Amino acid sequence: MIVKRAELSFFERLYLPTLLGGLKVTARHFFRKKVTMQYPEQKWTVPPNYRGAPYLVKDQVGRTKCVSCQLCEFVCPPKAIRITPPGPAGGSDSGNVEKGPLEFDINMLRCIFCGFCQEVCPEEAIFLMNDYSLTGTSRQEMIYDKDKLLALGGVHQDRIQKWKRKAQEALHQGVAP
Ligand code: SF4
Ligand code: SF4
Repeated sequence: MIVKRAELSFFERLYLPTLLGGLKVTARHFFRKKVTMQYPEQKWTVPPNYRGAPYLVKDQVGRTKCVSCQLCEFVCPPKAIRITPPGPAGGSDSGNVEKGPLEFDINMLRCIFCGFCQEVCPEEAIFLMNDYSLTGTSRQEMIYDKDKLLALGGVHQDRIQKWKRKAQEALHQGVAP
């Protein structure tokens, strides 16, 4: 079966109405409010509860809040977190309380920004922040180590106050904290 091609009318063969129609659309958009964002110089302002990249935080006196309990490593669905605990010697800078991680890596190529690590953390040591644009020139560069995570996370007020509690207990027992 041969389908007969419809003949163009004289008006359609002029192409002028189609051309003018296209120009009309262009002109309409030309005078509209600009929506093009000059990325990466300009970035979206994300809402306060936005779930971006997870970073480690320090408390108000600069201590690493993470105690390397490894709950986040266990719960992370794509296994993006790798923690090396400090071992039996532990961290020595704050007595028995300190058990900061020896190593703490997050593979940002694997992370799906689900927020499970933040929810499960008993120490409020890891938070999903506003970063949604992570770039690197190699896979290795996208594995953020402890120092980088702490630098990006910054300082958060320690609402748990475990240090204070320990210090108070030690005072009650007459032992130096
Ligand atoms: S946000 Fe989710 S995927 Fe990313 S490190 Fe945390 S638990 Fe893993
Ligand atoms: S970030 Fe939180 S959950 Fe993960 S190891 Fe440290 S203290 Fe545990």
